[in-house]
Amino acid sequence: MSDIMQIVKDKDPQEREFHQAVSEVMESIKPVLDQNPVYRKANIPARLVEPERVILFRVPWMDDGGDVHVNRGFRIEMNSAIGPYKGGLRFHPSVNLGILKFLAFEQVFKNALTTLPMGGGKGGSDFDPKGKSDAEVMRFCQAFMCELFRHIGPDTDVPAGDIGVGAREIGYLFGMYKKLRNEFTGVLTGKSLNWGGSLIRPEATGYGSVYFAAEMLATRTDSLEDKICLVSGSGNVAQYTTEKLLELGAKVVTLSDSSGYIFDESGITREKLDYVMMLKNVRRGRIKEYADKYPEAVYSDLDAAAEFNPLWNHKADCAFPSATQNEINGKDAQNLIDNGVFVVSEGANMPTVPEGVDLFLDKKILYGPGKAANAGGVSVSGLEMSQNSMRYAWSREEVDAKLKSIMNSIHSTCLEAAEQYDTPGNYVNGANIAGFVKVVDAMMDQGLV
Ligand code: GLU
Repeated sequence: MSDIMQIVKDKDPQEREFHQAVSEVMESIKPVLDQNPVYRKANIPARLVEPERVILFRVPWMDDGGDVHVNRGFRIEMNSAIGPYKGGLRFHPSVNLGILKFLAFEQVFKNALTTLPMGGGKGGSDFDPKGKSDAEVMRFCQAFMCELFRHIGPDTDVPAGDIGVGAREIGYLFGMYKKLRNEFTGVLTGKSLNWGGSLIRPEATGYGSVYFAAEMLATRTDSLEDKICLVSGSGNVAQYTTEKLLELGAKVVTLSDSSGYIFDESGITREKLDYVMMLKNVRRGRIKEYADKYPEAVYSDLDAAAEFNPLWNHKADCAFPSATQNEINGKDAQNLIDNGVFVVSEGANMPTVPEGVDLFLDKKILYGPGKAANAGGVSVSGLEMSQNSMRYAWSREEVDAKLKSIMNSIHSTCLEAAEQYDTPGNYVNGANIAGFVKVVDAMMDQGLV
């Protein structure tokens, strides 16, 4: 196992997030490899860490003032053993090959856990949508799709949203794809409802992460009712995590964005959440304004270089990291434990550093890693693909029931795999092992390709 890590690091020494994601999976699957020598004989670990295809392209676009900019566009087609490549597009200045490779790698196992036939991929750009006009975002999306269209398709690779890519961007991307190909197909998910989107898709990642937390609590005959919850982020995942937590009788006291966070000890009510949705989705403003509107809340700036993040340092029962990777460092994890948090359900991808993960596992708290807990988003994307193929739309209740049953099945699959490999209650091992076995058995069936 150290061999494969050495190879990955030697090949791409700067891809730290990718090393982190690979190392966690390799650690978990060691006993599976030991019990199944055929996997090693087929050199499965080395085949898994090498993307099937990486596409890197220039995206030139013009701002409203007539100046020309150039960004990088990427699509990582990681693994297609169990279905077309599937995974979001991220538009954020931090985007680079290493970050997208980590996300694509995680996506392979996450998608396998959903029970739906989807391979893994991820893409995006270092374009920063913050502060850009609608017209600039449209021109960027069109320029991005002018290259991406030749690599994707409803049976080949189906992108969706992620950080910085929501319904607006999916609309512009889809419009250009349709024009270039002259066909109306389900090539992207996260579409708006009136032209092929699925009900519950916007809600799915947040709802799914809460359903997963409820399932974990049920193993201790407990529930989310009256639990105090820390939620980070204020985008799509954080908003619908908060919505579902409120519905289930929990109290949410924090939200954040890249500048700072609010602590509202009195709890974020439905009315306050409606304000956040308007602020973030329509006005595209900053979370700081929440504390101007609701003076009972306290706003604090966040400093990425600080020793710890104060958002994770409040008395609570549950934490729902829903912002971005590595947002919980070792000290934050310790603070969470010291403050009484015993449930962590990850709405973001890889939000906890390895030291924090080890601490959660050590303390035996209910810890749902991203690739299990946030799989609801891509699950409903899979359901959107099915509805597009059938040219038919399921009702809200139907999609929500399917989402709930998929999250329950992910939860039990993780527990069973963890139990089978002698680490009962360890959802990290469970998710990695169950996802791995499904993908790898398909690779073995399909031969050396
Ligand atoms: N970006 C989401 C994720 O990390 C959703 C991907 C999709 O719907 O394809 O899983």
